[in-house]
Amino acid sequence: MPEAVLKRAQEELLDWQGRGCSVMEISHRSDAYVELAQNAEAKLRKLMNISDDYAVLFCHGSATHQFAMVPMNLLADRGKADYINTGIWSDKAVKEAKKFGDINEVKALVNRDGVFTVTDVKEWALRDDAAYLHYCPNETIGGVELHDIPVDNKVLVADMSSCILSKPINVSDFGVIYAGAQKNIGPAGMTITMVRKDLMGKTAARTPTLFDYKVLADNASMYNTPPTWAWYLADLVFDWLLAQGGVDAMAIRNSEKSTKLYQYIDSNPFYSNPIDKPYRSRMNIPFVLANESLNARFLAESEEEGLLALAGHRSVGGMRASLYNAMPIEGVEALTAFMDTFAKTHG
Ligand code: PMP
Repeated sequence: MPEAVLKRAQEELLDWQGRGCSVMEISHRSDAYVELAQNAEAKLRKLMNISDDYAVLFCHGSATHQFAMVPMNLLADRGKADYINTGIWSDKAVKEAKKFGDINEVKALVNRDGVFTVTDVKEWALRDDAAYLHYCPNETIGGVELHDIPVDNKVLVADMSSCILSKPINVSDFGVIYAGAQKNIGPAGMTITMVRKDLMGKTAARTPTLFDYKVLADNASMYNTPPTWAWYLADLVFDWLLAQGGVDAMAIRNSEKSTKLYQYIDSNPFYSNPIDKPYRSRMNIPFVLANESLNARFLAESEEEGLLALAGHRSVGGMRASLYNAMPIEGVEALTAFMDTFAKTHG
């Protein structure tokens, strides 16, 4: 979270808009909260240039919920969908979707001599009659990013949990975009989903009410009590983003931050990143030490320096630096300075 947002939330915690109570304590049906909710949506539409052809849903729960909601909404009659698998999150999306439809999984991540890369689109066996093509533009754990739209003329469904708002994108290239809030939007517990309106309203009758995009859209995401606190914080993050210059400014900053860290990793044989350069993530940068027996020491000493959360995901180990929008360039500078000292001391 941007520090400025946390400070503002702190200031407003006990007394929101001079009402003598917290935003958490007022009814989501009150005029004041509805106005906040509408403003937040308007700000997101402005930031991402989202047209009226799309519904913007502030959903309860996580991106993992969306792994089920996408096929529930788009494959009502056990229809067909293609899924590109480039890592752990797209793999989980595939497994969930298989419960609901005929899923063609394209395993696109390959290990070529210790370097992970993504196979050429021409090698992907896609089906003309698939209702949509699902992919994960940024694989958070593996640090694999597909920087461009992989294919044209498909209904693209993208899990943008770890790259939303990190650069400009053309929303109209997609059928559905979803993103768990906890990286670039706000706290965990809410997921924002953008759905092209013509794709809604085709769920099977058995679909749970809250899992139906059309119900959420028709009720302005307030069929039931929405995650009001997370929505409020997202609104503050959107204010912060707009004040920073929006996603164009974020794109420049994110590119500067990641370039700096990759350049350092590539310049020092003490460290390495296993991803083929065209697919390296700007948001999550995994790296390993040449001498892995120093891992625990690296993590302990970096924590002492105030550099937190550098352990790689429990499924892969090693290290991972996440450079979400809220991470300032100074954070990367502090990390590379620490890495340099550590390499000189232990190399
Ligand atoms: N997709 C991606 C790309 C993620 O990074 C994550 C988690 N960080 C998820 C899905 C799952 O999110 P959640 O834990 O909110 O279900």
